[in-house]
Amino acid sequence: MTEPLFRDDAYLREAEAIVEAVDPSGIILNRTIFYPQGGGQPGDRGELILDDGSRLVVVNTTYGSDRRAILHTLAEGSSLPAPGARVLARLDWDLRFKRMRAHTALHLLTAVLPYPVTGGAVGDAEGRLDFDSGEVALDKAEIAEKLNSLIGRNAAVSMRWISDDELAANPGLVKTMSVKPPTGTGRVRLIEIDGIDLQPCGGTHVRRTGEIGQATVAGIEKKGRLNRRVRIALSQNEA
Ligand SMILES: [Zn+2]
Repeated sequence: MTEPLFRDDAYLREAEAIVEAVDPSGIILNRTIFYPQGGGQPGDRGELILDDGSRLVVVNTTYGSDRRAILHTLAEGSSLPAPGARVLARLDWDLRFKRMRAHTALHLLTAVLPYPVTGGAVGDAEGRLDFDSGEVALDKAEIAEKLNSLIGRNAAVSMRWISDDELAANPGLVKTMSVKPPTGTGRVRLIEIDGIDLQPCGGTHVRRTGEIGQATVAGIEKKGRLNRRVRIALSQNEA
């Protein structure tokens, strides 16, 4: 099992770890700061630096089939480290931070558009959500204004854990119909944006909404009779 360090602190850019296993599909470490692809957020990239100074490029991160191990996929042709080797794992932080900003902005978007979410994706300083918004006419400028107003509140983003039973007793917490919160481990991670949003989520977020930077609504597309895809784009750097 890989200890997911990113879950308690999404701001870790570097961490030491031990190679536990070398699987054909990736390197398994005892602990990692690399977020594995899931919940609409892509897997992290970065590098593993060995004691002799050699660098292994990580091109993607995914969960193993049991979702307990996390696999770091190396660039093609990389030499493989030996099990037991010590590595310094270093994130492609520019990329990850853009995703943290985009991911947190999508939480705010669910507060601006309080409709069931049927899909979504986190990109690099951009993202999209699909809403079952029915016949409601969505206005780009109005959505952007509301979104930027929430960003401007610089609200604190925090997390806490609740039991599966507590979640089952509060089904209203689940806004995303396509991505079921991971239950079965007995507890579920809740992300709260102070005074704005509360929902189960396993992704990586910024600490305060002000870090998201300026947002625009890049497009609204019809995905079905009652379904709309809303794309947002963020300024390349935080405000
Ligand atoms: Zn989230």
